[in-house]
Amino acid sequence: MSEVVDHLAELTGFRDRDVVDVTLVGAFCDLLRPDSVAIYRPVGEPDAQRWLTRARLRGQETTPTADSVWAALEDLPALETLPQHRRCLQEQAAVTCTADGRTMSLFPLNTDREVAGVLDIRTRAPLTDEQTRLVSSILRVYRNFQVLLDYSERDTLTGLLNRKTFDGSFLRVSAQGAPTPVQAAPCHERRSGGESTWLGVIDIDHFKAVNDSHGHLIGDEVLLLIARLMRGSFRFQDQLYRFGGEEFVVLVRGGRAEQAAIAFERLRANIAAYVFPRVGHITVSIGFTEVRTGDSPSGAFERADKAVYHAKQNGRNQVAHHGDLIARGLLVDETRTGDMELF
Ligand code: GH3
Ligand code: MG
Ligand code: MG
Repeated sequence: MSEVVDHLAELTGFRDRDVVDVTLVGAFCDLLRPDSVAIYRPVGEPDAQRWLTRARLRGQETTPTADSVWAALEDLPALETLPQHRRCLQEQAAVTCTADGRTMSLFPLNTDREVAGVLDIRTRAPLTDEQTRLVSSILRVYRNFQVLLDYSERDTLTGLLNRKTFDGSFLRVSAQGAPTPVQAAPCHERRSGGESTWLGVIDIDHFKAVNDSHGHLIGDEVLLLIARLMRGSFRFQDQLYRFGGEEFVVLVRGGRAEQAAIAFERLRANIAAYVFPRVGHITVSIGFTEVRTGDSPSGAFERADKAVYHAKQNGRNQVAHHGDLIARGLLVDETRTGDMELF
């Protein structure tokens, strides 16, 4: 009993979801002594989802493995390659399969907001009723904890990440490049060469006029729809934030400047083409910058924001790349000058 309590204390002692999943897998390994435990999560567009391994621990291993957050979607297994897992996910119910004297027990992991994934426990003998109850109870704590994490990390209107969580994520990205706390499985390692992280700031054009003409409630609905368009325009690894008001931030992981520009341009075009109920067409101005090693969150944000300002001054409804504006002599790189003065 005290062992279970220890594991629960450890599970709820972290604020980082990657670490929470790794801790959960470790706890079940200790408590059930199975052949393996893993957490799989569906990622990608709803009609073409794939499995991301969040954490997996086998037999004698001491360190869990996981797919890198840099994993390319096309390198991950399609949902139909694990049909029982897909069933568990879709039916939101536990699934047990026995074959060759081994048992696979699958449990759905869900939060208030989404279906978070599937817990996969492989054992020699089927789980006893007591073990199944233990797993279900720990998963209830896990679920409640995820809801609390959502509450503290997410913006209540749009469900996007809030500003509070930005600094931590940003510092991890800028310090080490590949922000995963667990050892990545070799087959899905970060692709080498030319990979960067990009920070984009998105500001709605003339949003005050939307509120003035249609009222705050309609304005809020526009914010909600823009968040939905953002989710549809970026990949699963990209982190989407609402910084408050009508300002959004995206951390785009991987790719070169042209690819980042394509992603931001896709969002700009998707928003410009969308017909917002009652309001009609709305546009956004977007500025983006490369995250440099050792960057501060505010320094990088300021660069992207300068590019937004440039876009606003030059007609709005456009994407501006800070580095490109510097190269073309249209902006002065004050952050870099600041760095040089400091040292
Ligand atoms: P610009 O193209 O220069 O960005 O013009 P703008 O009108 O969007 O810019 P400005 O910063 O002057 O106004 C932002 C407006 O956003 C002010 C306020 O009415 C609105 N706003 C800020 N936060 C919220 C919110 O949470 N809900 C709603 N409905 N409106 C908000
Ligand atoms: Mg603004
Ligand atoms: Mg604005």
